[in-house]
Amino acid sequence: MGRKHWITALGIWLVLAAVALAAPKYKALIVTGQNGHDWKGTTPVLKKVLEDSGLFAVDVATCPPGKDTSGFKPDFKAYDVVVSNYQGAAWPEETKKALVDYVQDGGGLVIYHFALASFPDWKEYNEMIGLGGWGGRTEKAGPYVRWVDGKIVRQQTPGRTGSHGPMQPFQIVIREPNHPITQGLPEKFMQVPDELYGWLRGPAKDLTVLATAFAPGGKLGGADEHEPILFTIGYGKGRVFQNALGHTAKELRSVAFIVTFQRGVEWAASGKVTQKVPDDFPTADKASVRP
Ligand code: ZN
Repeated sequence: MGRKHWITALGIWLVLAAVALAAPKYKALIVTGQNGHDWKGTTPVLKKVLEDSGLFAVDVATCPPGKDTSGFKPDFKAYDVVVSNYQGAAWPEETKKALVDYVQDGGGLVIYHFALASFPDWKEYNEMIGLGGWGGRTEKAGPYVRWVDGKIVRQQTPGRTGSHGPMQPFQIVIREPNHPITQGLPEKFMQVPDELYGWLRGPAKDLTVLATAFAPGGKLGGADEHEPILFTIGYGKGRVFQNALGHTAKELRSVAFIVTFQRGVEWAASGKVTQKVPDDFPTADKASVRP
């Protein structure tokens, strides 16, 4: 090759390297299409929140409405992480097995808000998500998991499974500060008025509670307990993260949601978190929102 050719080759290589550096590192798939919540309103926001991190290229798989989901066969294996905004009809056996195999083999799964109510009768799903609620679940689903007297406890007591009071602001308290998702975040930070999920139950195997929020009883509808809000589950070689925040698109503007979701999805995809804590992160007594 002559000198000119070398210079051209170097130029092409530099362009390719720049493209590789600018391209998102991970492929994420959001599954949705059925949900007792406004999935049409929240899915584009979840997608944008992930894209805004610069880390994810995001696809959306939309399950058709109704009981016949036989055509719904997303290629989970083509992704680093699957985010569920799905709560609805059972999936075909082939799709269920594909998701279980995907997580078993090291895939990442993120359960957002009401997706924890899906699939009450699917044993492996309940194992993968650790804790769930609603959907006719009973105390047979497993214990409550709460923060009592300075530690996480499992309470095999009778009572409801999945509940929340009226929308209310609440403080989130980190209980595991040495996890990649929570490392560097302030110990306490405020969420905007949102649903505060409580009375969740499940197999809770290999479960790590990252953060809780106190749900006051009486008119505020809680159990007077510190309920798990952010938690992880180990399943096979895979990583599962749950974020119970974010009832509608409005609550998804909360920086408490945005940052914990972005970090949780990165961790589920890779086992690590490279994102810095932003300057607008909420404080112990003040929530923050983005436009
Ligand atoms: Zn909700």
